[in-house]
Amino acid sequence: MGIERIREQVFCQEVEKELTAIADKVYGRKLSELDNVQVYNCLLQMTKEFTQAAKHLRGDKKVYYISAEFLIGKLLSNNLINLGIYDKVKEVLAKYGKNIADIEEAENEPSLGNGGLGRLAACFLDSIATLGLPGDGIGLNYHFGLFHQVFRERLQTAEPDRWIDDVTWLNKKDTGFEVRFGDRKVRSVHYDIDVIGYQNGVNKLHLFDLDTVDESIVKTGITFDKEDIEKNLTLFLYPDDSDEAGNLLRIYQQYFMVSNAAQLILRELHEHQIDLHEMYKHAVIQINDTHPTMVIPELIRILTEEKAMAMDEAIDIVSKTCAYTNHTILAEALEKWPLEYLEQVVPQLIPIIKELDARVRKKFKDKKVQIIDKDKRVHMAHIDIHYGFSVNGVAALHTEILKETELNHFYKIYPEKFNNKTNGITFRRWLMSCNPELSDVITSLIGDGWKKDAAKLEKLMEFADDKEAIDRIMAVKDTKKAQLCDYIKAHEGIGLDKDSIFDIQIKRMHEYKRQQMNALYIIHKYLEIKGGKNPTRPLTFLFGAKAAPAYVIAQDVIHLILCLQEIINNDPDVSPYMKVVMVENYNVTYAEKLIPACDISEQISLASKEASGTGNMKFMLNGAVTLGTMDGANVEIHDLVGDDNIYVFGKDSDTVIDLYAKSAYVAKDYYKKSRVIKEAVDFITDKKVVAVGHKTNLVRLQKELIGKDWFMTLLDLEEYIRVKDKAFEDYEDRGTWGRKMLVNIAKAGFFSSDRTIAQYNEDIWKL
Ligand SMILES: *Cc1c(COP(=O)(O)O)cnc(C)c1O
Repeated sequence: MGIERIREQVFCQEVEKELTAIADKVYGRKLSELDNVQVYNCLLQMTKEFTQAAKHLRGDKKVYYISAEFLIGKLLSNNLINLGIYDKVKEVLAKYGKNIADIEEAENEPSLGNGGLGRLAACFLDSIATLGLPGDGIGLNYHFGLFHQVFRERLQTAEPDRWIDDVTWLNKKDTGFEVRFGDRKVRSVHYDIDVIGYQNGVNKLHLFDLDTVDESIVKTGITFDKEDIEKNLTLFLYPDDSDEAGNLLRIYQQYFMVSNAAQLILRELHEHQIDLHEMYKHAVIQINDTHPTMVIPELIRILTEEKAMAMDEAIDIVSKTCAYTNHTILAEALEKWPLEYLEQVVPQLIPIIKELDARVRKKFKDKKVQIIDKDKRVHMAHIDIHYGFSVNGVAALHTEILKETELNHFYKIYPEKFNNKTNGITFRRWLMSCNPELSDVITSLIGDGWKKDAAKLEKLMEFADDKEAIDRIMAVKDTKKAQLCDYIKAHEGIGLDKDSIFDIQIKRMHEYKRQQMNALYIIHKYLEIKGGKNPTRPLTFLFGAKAAPAYVIAQDVIHLILCLQEIINNDPDVSPYMKVVMVENYNVTYAEKLIPACDISEQISLASKEASGTGNMKFMLNGAVTLGTMDGANVEIHDLVGDDNIYVFGKDSDTVIDLYAKSAYVAKDYYKKSRVIKEAVDFITDKKVVAVGHKTNLVRLQKELIGKDWFMTLLDLEEYIRVKDKAFEDYEDRGTWGRKMLVNIAKAGFFSSDRTIAQYNEDIWKL
């Protein structure tokens, strides 16, 4: 039975009957007598039942998307939307005195990812199912996820993020796999979560785990004994890797993931009676960043050792099955494992990896393309590039930089493998679910064809000079800003002015993303107001960001922002004109509240460093105007909306790459040359800041900015201030600003992940 049929049935009579029956069966009560958690549990059960009856996507060839992260967000609303029963459920709940928004609050957000890369994987699963393609995700079931962020004394502290409830979307399967680490054997537990396409079929997200994992070994914060794999393997995503035990644990996790993946894939091929010599005709494996790289030697090992295939042929077949996505040019983020570590964890892969390296050495003189370098470190990306059939970057500029600079040695050998797939986002979550008000306005203007074909949003351009249409879009923005004010009041205890300009930077905390530059702007504005120069309209600066626990400078930037928040919001001279809020524990749920309420989207990474960004796309789609550098997908946003509908500043990627090549950037010169820069940087250790903060952190950050500033904050600071001030000024011409909003929404269609996935399928997967 297809979802379409189910939807019809459901619409006619079923939701209410089904829901009240579950309430009666599980709790012996009427729906109206249940609390929010109980209603949520009933809805979850109902959704699972409907999903089970739906069409599970099949085909002659299937894609397996392996990823260390799937930042899927809460599932209830999205699943209801994709099943086509959201409005009906909302109606039924209202009849029983329940508000669907309150029910949504009862769900914990799955903590299975970190940032953009994990969120991309989640958007991709949605789009694969929506396009009706057979394709499953494969990853790990982290019990405590990344971590839950809590601010104490204006510092980030990390706590376990417990997200798995008794009633859960996870389905436990009764089959697992044996996974071998040298002589040690463990047996995996296999869970899956249904991935429901929008008015289409269902795929799976497979998550592997160990029964023996012991949550009680986690002591203060997120520290635990890193030695005992059977107890700790899937406790956390990205466990601290500042010591050897942490490195080994990450390798254990990665091998556990790919060993399960390989066995699952081979089992499914076997079930379909596929001859393994033709594996690549029926399966394609997308390797999301380097974390799943070991799937390549693992498959070769299985084919040669257990399936009696010759090495040449095994390598050929696996190479035709695997494709790699690169997400970064930051050298420190490209994994290089010491061979000795791999020997300890997965000795069975060492002969294969050495064989793969030997073949490369025999064929190519260039040392830069070797797999094992002279320090005996294994370059995981090099395995992917030599032994996969496709290498893709995630935005046009990023792919060009890979080809011309970072991976140029490989591009020269394999030009045909390189291709670009500009990232995208699912409009179901990032518009229909998080901003139903805007969805409704769009639909009333251009019909609802855009929901299945995002390119149709372009029709909005017909209304670019229609005052009434623009007013409606601007009214939605006001509504979402008012809703966000209530949410922030409830969650952060801070009152905001809904009529102020909402300027938002939310993303992982990293120096290359330059939250510190935004903080320096805020200091500059504060000093201006103290000096008697007030902005035309109050300004609200919102941040959300988690920092890797071992990343010291990132922690210091969080600290600075929290200190500024304290000083500014409590200064009676300044707080009527500006407020600063860094929200606690930024995650998908918070993003869904913040993005629809944004006026100005901060996308200010150092040019060449942000591979794509996807936050930039979510904001644009919700009618925010981008303030950004020519980096990642910002370049494509600029091309689409044109100069009038985006604020661009900063040195371009060629200039930046050149500065690095010549080691020609000296932060101190900028600090000395400019009064504005000097004042802002000096303020970091002003007695007002030190009074509410920790001197060690503040001094360290200031020194870093003057003495090193690896990501060139001071290079772009003055122009950033100028262009940002201009954006705030332009905001006052409300009609023109409204037009900018409309153009951004109209041009966002290209960034639908449905488009991205159609391209992956067309060029790489060929399902
Ligand atoms: C989209 C998203 C990201 C990625 O944001 P960028 O600005 O592209 O870095 C990170 N975290 C969450 C929760 C997201 O939803």
